Amino acid sequence: MKQVRHDGCILSMLTIIADKAEFVLEVHHHLFQVYGSKIRYLYKRDPLSELLDTILSQRTKNRDSAQAFTNLIERFGTWEKVRDAPVEAVLQAIKPSTWPEQKAPRLQQILKLITERHGKLSLDFLAEMNVSDAREWLEKLPGVGPKSSAATLSFSNMRARALPVDSHHFRVAIRLGIIDAKIGEGKANRVLENLLPASFTAKEVFDNHQVMMRHGQQVCFYYNPECTKCVLLDLCTTGQGLVNIKV
Ligand code: SF4
Repeated sequence: MKQVRHDGCILSMLTIIADKAEFVLEVHHHLFQVYGSKIRYLYKRDPLSELLDTILSQRTKNRDSAQAFTNLIERFGTWEKVRDAPVEAVLQAIKPSTWPEQKAPRLQQILKLITERHGKLSLDFLAEMNVSDAREWLEKLPGVGPKSSAATLSFSNMRARALPVDSHHFRVAIRLGIIDAKIGEGKANRVLENLLPASFTAKEVFDNHQVMMRHGQQVCFYYNPECTKCVLLDLCTTGQGLVNIKV
């Protein structure tokens, strides 16, 4: 009898997951119609450069983190020289990024640990590993969480199948009822990735990150989301509630 109840429980959980996956796909198709034509991979950097850029971009505007990254390249020339430089020199170079006092020693610590653990300063070896193992390796580095590991593997020249979830993506997913805010941004990375179709290629997973992020940046704002202009209003009970309040 207990076994029957247990099986019923698993069955209803699987049904909920399947329904959510279908919903996520519908959202993806709606958003892709709006933003899809503009989506391109931005760079073709090696994974180490991408990881460093990802750290510089934490809580920082794209323009400022790009400037900090360029400063590092122009002032030091190689990542070995960044690793071995006085921390104050690195801090000065990355000043356009937020929290340079924390990020400068963190970057150098990461560069030293990669050298120690891998024997040389490169992350190209990650291309030989499966994505899950590569992410696990990266997430053992200080300050590297699921979003940074996914961004490093997806945005770099590895073009791996991994879904980074930033604050915009996270907010849109919560408002659509796909995830609960309580799970936090870190866990949301793998939960949301697992809801995408297994048949999605690495580029389609990247596209999903892009459409959700762009929607958060351009329509589903933190304050005053523009629900009346939103292509997802028919699918979004949060938005429908907000529109009704204003009427
Ligand atoms: S309807 Fe409103 S709350 Fe829902 S996704 Fe669109 S903008 Fe965000």
